[in-house]
Amino acid sequence: KAAVMDGDKFDYEEELALEKSKAKSSVLEALHEERKKLPIYPFRDEFLKAVHDHQVLVIVGETGSGKTTQIPQYLHEAGYTKNGRMIACTQPRRVAAMSVAARVSQEMGVKLGHEVGYSIRFEDCTSEKTVLKYMTDGMLLREFLAQPELESYSVVMVDEAHERTLSTDILFGLVKDVARARPDLKLLISSATLDAEKFSNYFDCAPIFKIPGRRYPVEIHFTKAPEADYLDAAIVTTLQIHATQPPGDILVFLTGQEEIETTEEILKQRMRGLGTKIAELIICPIYANLPTELQAKIFEPTPEGARKVILATNIAETSLTIDGIKYVIDPGFSKMKCYNPRTGMESLLVTPISKASAMQRAGRSGRTGPGKCFRLYTAYSFQNDLDDNTPPEIQRTNLANVVLTLKCLGIEDLINFEFMDPPPIDAIKKALELLYALSALNVGGKLTKVGRRMAEFPLDPMLSKMIVASEKYKCSDEVISIAAMLSVGNSIFYRPKDKQVHADNARMNFHTGNIGDHIAHLKVYNSWKENNYSTQWCYENYIQVRSMKHARDIRDQLAGLLERVEIELTSNSNDFDAIKKSITSGYFPHSARLQKNGTYRMVKHQQTVHIHPSSGLAEILPRCVLYHELVLTSKEYMRQVTEIKPQWLLEIAPHFYDLKDVENSSSNKMPRGHGLA
Ligand code: ADP
Ligand code: MG
Repeated sequence: KAAVMDGDKFDYEEELALEKSKAKSSVLEALHEERKKLPIYPFRDEFLKAVHDHQVLVIVGETGSGKTTQIPQYLHEAGYTKNGRMIACTQPRRVAAMSVAARVSQEMGVKLGHEVGYSIRFEDCTSEKTVLKYMTDGMLLREFLAQPELESYSVVMVDEAHERTLSTDILFGLVKDVARARPDLKLLISSATLDAEKFSNYFDCAPIFKIPGRRYPVEIHFTKAPEADYLDAAIVTTLQIHATQPPGDILVFLTGQEEIETTEEILKQRMRGLGTKIAELIICPIYANLPTELQAKIFEPTPEGARKVILATNIAETSLTIDGIKYVIDPGFSKMKCYNPRTGMESLLVTPISKASAMQRAGRSGRTGPGKCFRLYTAYSFQNDLDDNTPPEIQRTNLANVVLTLKCLGIEDLINFEFMDPPPIDAIKKALELLYALSALNVGGKLTKVGRRMAEFPLDPMLSKMIVASEKYKCSDEVISIAAMLSVGNSIFYRPKDKQVHADNARMNFHTGNIGDHIAHLKVYNSWKENNYSTQWCYENYIQVRSMKHARDIRDQLAGLLERVEIELTSNSNDFDAIKKSITSGYFPHSARLQKNGTYRMVKHQQTVHIHPSSGLAEILPRCVLYHELVLTSKEYMRQVTEIKPQWLLEIAPHFYDLKDVENSSSNKMPRGHGLA
């Protein structure tokens, strides 16, 4: 045909292809050279021998030594995937799993998702070809449900073990058991810190393989007096470094997305104020929900004459290694999950970091040359206010999800499960109580059919229960949309600083009729769908397209899971009460009543709470509400709130509430002391 006949074009294309492949191989070559420079490289053969000789190995090496990116490749090159089995490498954070997989696919010169892939909740980027699978620890935990002996893997590397996330801690117990049953399975536990002895002891004295690190001296500066506003101090320090210090990038540790965005904005403003006399400052944020396209930016080399400042959450402490950092700014805080086993309430709190974290953070500046760390707290505070270590997550979190998973795996005796550090007995009890209240367990603590169905959903048990209950109320179609929207988090609405009034008006359009936040979410989703999933529609309504697409994705997966548990997709869109009753079936423990003073009180345990200002019901103050989650800022706020009828609590959860709880809500309306005289 014409294209083939056209000699010129043919030559040209061939040449272009040749150029491209030359460019590609030179990139590969460069990456190959970089790989050889990593601290782990000289130990490649020794490492492979150790894996060959031992079933379980604990690996310790400084951040950046090449554990995460190189070890799976070495094993692949040494033939550990020849038997058709994969190498799993778990990461505590989704961003790390994605970013590392992307890097390794580049180094191997393959397309991401082919030989090298990743798997995170609601996103599976792997294929038949995949041999190296980076995944969150939570995903591997879920894989146990489908394959209790992890048959598809020849090696499991539990990476970032020092982070001691809840899923990692549970994985320890499970993989230890599998390793006994499967002598052919290799188990690697890798950590960036020196608590390796503890891991080794836990794994029956497994040998420790140390990768000697290169570390340059880091100069530590403390503030003379405590800082009243650490964000402002971080910004001022960044600009001072930029104006006065020799070249080298800056890494600032902040606590979350909101803080990072605020800091980014202020930094941009102040830089504009400084005009062109000062060198360019490239600002790169990195946090869990940062869109994938922007994640790569932090790894791009800084252009000559410019300086990069990375505004990161804890993710940059050990999970991600960014080259070129010379200055670290450490305000001394991170967001930590806290759980009160008495009330069963969980919240994310900004808390002082531990001494161990502070050391890790400082270390990030001395990886490629001498560095400086600016701690925005006093030396006294470091010595006296910071704990030595952060307690493992298992000791400060709600265990309901994990207990449900373990029950599904047939692990009945939770008290005697081989925990590295056991959780508080109260927390286990609370989890069992909640699962019983949700009818996932029976009185004897055995898994019920409802529980088994709930466990199919990779969601919090309350959310799974809400979905499973939608069968009864014939509104599964609506409920999975709501569940998907809730799973996206708080990034649906977009509120630009200069258009807040418009944005708020657009948002309130979805709230007409005081339908509550859950159903408002449903309205947003459905309107978007009615508008053919239009991007333009999102812009007009101050809604984040990206979040909506993510929600659609999650929703599709939830629909697939419904099929798996044999719940029909039925729609009951005009019956808001049916939808609200489904929500109540999962969230009845989160009910609160209005008090005379305008605050709310939890029905079950008298805790005072408030409706979050972002809620559509913030000004309405219904008599009785349910909330999705609690956030603690200046007060305990309920986020995502819906009004319910108090009698529903009795109807839906008679084993949890009694008449007294519900009647109180009306008697509160009466003046106190009434009838006493
Ligand atoms: P470790 O796991 O021991 O902390 P890594 O294997 O993560 O070390 O990192 C080794 C090297 O790979 C580092 O120099 C780091 O800069 C580089 N690297 C890791 N991930 C990426 C990425 N996504 N993009 C570019 N470079 C990366
Ligand atoms: Mg690593």
